[in-house]
Order: sequence, then structure tokens, then C-alpha cells
Amino acid sequence: MAKMLINGERVDAASGATTDIRNPATGQHVDSVPKADAADTRKAIEAAAEAFKNWSKLAPHKRGQMLMQASACARAKLDDVAQLLTQEQGKPIRDSRIEAERFADNIEIYAGLVNGGAMSGKHVPLPAQKAMGLVVRRPIGVVGAIIPWNFPLTLMANKIAPAMAVGNTVVVKPASTTPLSTLRLAELMLEGGLPAGVLNVVTGPGGVVGEELIRHPWVRKIGFTGETGTGKQVARSAADELKHVTLELGGSDAAIVCDDADLDVAARNVAIGRFFNAGQACLAIKRVYVFDSVADDFIARIVARAKRLKLGSGMDDSAQMGPLHTEKQRAEIEAQLADAVQRGGRVVAGGHRPSGEEFSRGYYFEPTVVVDVPDDARVWTEETFGPLLPIRRVASLDEAIDLANSSEYGLGSSIFTRDMAKAQRAIDELEAGYTWVNAVQVAHDELPFGGTKHSGYGKEHGTEVLDYYTEQKSVVVAT
Ligand code: NDP
Repeated sequence: MAKMLINGERVDAASGATTDIRNPATGQHVDSVPKADAADTRKAIEAAAEAFKNWSKLAPHKRGQMLMQASACARAKLDDVAQLLTQEQGKPIRDSRIEAERFADNIEIYAGLVNGGAMSGKHVPLPAQKAMGLVVRRPIGVVGAIIPWNFPLTLMANKIAPAMAVGNTVVVKPASTTPLSTLRLAELMLEGGLPAGVLNVVTGPGGVVGEELIRHPWVRKIGFTGETGTGKQVARSAADELKHVTLELGGSDAAIVCDDADLDVAARNVAIGRFFNAGQACLAIKRVYVFDSVADDFIARIVARAKRLKLGSGMDDSAQMGPLHTEKQRAEIEAQLADAVQRGGRVVAGGHRPSGEEFSRGYYFEPTVVVDVPDDARVWTEETFGPLLPIRRVASLDEAIDLANSSEYGLGSSIFTRDMAKAQRAIDELEAGYTWVNAVQVAHDELPFGGTKHSGYGKEHGTEVLDYYTEQKSVVVAT
């Protein structure tokens, strides 16, 4: 059985309670993990607070070196980690390998940045008095990192890599259904020399472990990724202690396909943007607005791509799309599709659970495209977290931008056009934290990432994330 990691030790929950982890492709038991309670969580917080005393005082380059070593140890076993990720999450093994590598990349990026002066402040002349002004950066303290199940490793790395590099210590709470790859990575980091207490992982229910992290006064910062509803609850709970909070929440990203677009590029990138990770991505393309004059051609290309995608168990190297993560997730997509059809929508690709013995025990659903869906249907107004793509015809860029901005979410957005004037309007007017122009919709480690409106606040990635894991202090030195 897997164990939690608290203060460098592999431990069970004090109560002995456990949670079973099952494979979404087969329903089979993969392993069990401890089911922690609030008292277990407090032990991890206390260990992180104790470790902060030394870790935060290390020279930044020393922390960078230690993180590099820990990452090298993890890198040597990334294939084991990827296997665990596919077994617990369901995604194709090649995507798990990429995700595990991105974890190590992120640790190394911030280990390198901290060597390169990420902790530097600035000198500000104070002409009014005989004094010198300085702005210095300090770590915040203990960070609680609360992670969802769709990209457990990259979304953890986005938080813990910058947090640890600048001198914070961390308690990670993985999603209840995807703790195994996280625990394995954390173990490898400790084997690689990360001091005890710097990185702790506590497994247990969000309402218990997560809530304790958010309410405990010693945790000074919460990095949260998850649903918008949960994020609002996190913000409310964190308010009592006036905690720093970064919220990376849901999205309903629109893609606009203009009449002058390269339709091959648009179809390829929309298909990747929608069906990657079986559509279970915050930054997925969840709505398409296509100019009427090219709509039939574009829809035919997307339908062809949807039908070509090979479904299969994540452990099958040739599979391009795995099952959905849970039965609940599949039921939700089916309900959103039924609502669209009941209102007059037409399914032009997919729409069913695939038939055949190999799919009978997993939560599979075909890549699905639906057209002629009225604007008040759930697929337009809610987040669709699965392989379901609604496409709507528009008469103009004005109409497309208005519809794109009608969502309460504001995470990502895309436009496909050869006309830079149209692209510039999209960049200026789309209400989202990211706009891709003719590009595949993936987040780059180098660029700050984060939403607006109900998609949350704060940034991950880039050098900008460092502002969210440090506090700035002003200093006046009388001369
Ligand atoms: P949830 O909000 O259900 O869960 C996210 C995490 O929060 C889990 O670890 C969960 O624990 C925990 N949690 C649940 N309730 C509480 C609580 N009351 N207090 C503290 N923590 C709690 O999201 P999902 O796991 O279902 O993830 C999918 C969602 O995440 C989608 O909406 C998606 O768009 C969004 N997302 C956003 C991204 C972004 O960067 N903007 C990126 C990826 C996903 P437990 O598992 O034990 O319930």
C-alpha cells in the first residue's frame, strides 16, 4: 500500500483508514492510500513549518542545487511514475510520460531561475532624505497545494516548483482519485536529497484535508486548481485568515474560425484542443464559432479527425484517447449532450459509448461533435469536461467575439485567421487570460498562465509566478 509523506517519513493515517484507487479503463483496483484526517494534516503542516526555518535561510543557489539533484533522482524513474499516472488517471501512456517530464522540467526551470537571481529585489533612490530604499523578496511560509485529477503532475509542479525554489515549504493535497503518481514523485525527490519536511503529501478528502490546509493559520498561501464552485469555497474559507490564494479554475474556451483561416491548421488545432486528455482539460477548446461561409468545410474536417481518433486503454501505446476519469464525468457529458439534442442539436460525430469488449468496463465515450445547438443549451453556458464539441455558425467577427465573451469563464481563447487585423481584435477584445492565434492551445512554461472572471485569479508559469509565492518588503536605510 502507498504511504503519505510527512516530515520525510512514509506514514499511514493515524486512524488506519484507506481509500482504494481504481483504473478508469478497467475498474480494477490499482492500490490503496491512507485516508488522512485533520490531525494527520496538522502533522504535515507542523513539519513544513519546522523545515521552513532552515530551507528559507539557505542561499538561493543552494536550494537550486538541491532541487536539481532531487529532480535528477525523479527523472531516472519517470517511466514508473508515468505508468502509475495512466493506471490511476486513464490517460494514454505517452501523454503520461510527457506530463511526468514536464514535472521534472518545471522543478529544474525554477531551480535554475533561483540561481539566476529570482530572489533579487531592487534599490530605489530616496532623494527626499539621506536614505537608501530597497525592495527585498521573502518567501511566504508554508504553502498548501491542492490539486485536481486531470493533470495531477503538471498542476502540482506549477505550484511546488516556484514555491520551493524561493524558500517556501509545501504540503500537497492530491485529488482523492490520483494520489499514486504524486506520492511516487515526492518519494523520489526525498531520495534525491530534499530535506525532510520541505515537501509533504497528505492524501484524504478535499473537505477534510483541503479544508484544514485552508483554515490552519500556519499555512500562509494556498495554490488551488479545481472547479469554480470549489474555488469559491476555498476563497471564502481562506478569507478568515487573510491568506494569499491563487485560484486556477474552470474554463469554457472559445475558438473563432474566420473565413480566411487555414482550415487544415484550424481543424488540427481545434481537434487537439478539444480531445486531448479526453477533453478533460481546463484549457480545452470547449466552443467553436465558425464563419458561415467556411462552416461546412470546417465541420467536415473536424468530423473526419474526431472519427479517426483511436480510443483505447491508456496502457496501449497506440491509443490516442483513453476513458473518462470517472463514471460521474461520463454521465455529466452524456447529460450535456442529451440537453443539446433535446433542444434541436444534431450529432455529426460520435455521441455514444463505444461498443466492444475492450471498452465494456471503462468509462469510454466517443469524440463527439454537435451542431445547430441553441445558445441557451448547457454546452454553451457550462464547462464541458469531456470529448464533446459544439460548433456554431456566425456571420461576423463582432458576433463571434460577443458570443465568446458571453461565458462567465475567462481562461483561454483562440482565433484562426490570416488577417492580422482580425487577430489583433481578438487579442484586444477576448476576455481571457490567454489568446492563441493559429496556434495549438497548450500552456507554455515560459508564459504566465491564469484566468479572469470565474476562471480565477493569480498566475502560474513564467517569472510572474514568483510574485505569487513571495512577499515584497520595503527597507529604508538611513545613510
Ligand atoms: P475539484 O474542485 O472537485 O477538486 C480539486 C481539488 O480540490 C481536489 O484535490 C479536491 O479533493 C479538492 N477539494 C474538494 N473540495 C474541497 C474543499 N471543500 N476544500 C478544499 N479542497 C477541496 O476539481 P476536479 O478535481 O473535479 O478538477 C476539475 C476542475 O478543475 C475543472 O473545473 C477544471 O476546469 C479545473 N481545472 C482548472 C485548471 C486551471 O489551471 N485553471 C487546470 C485544470 C483543471 P478531492 O479529490 O478529495 O475531492
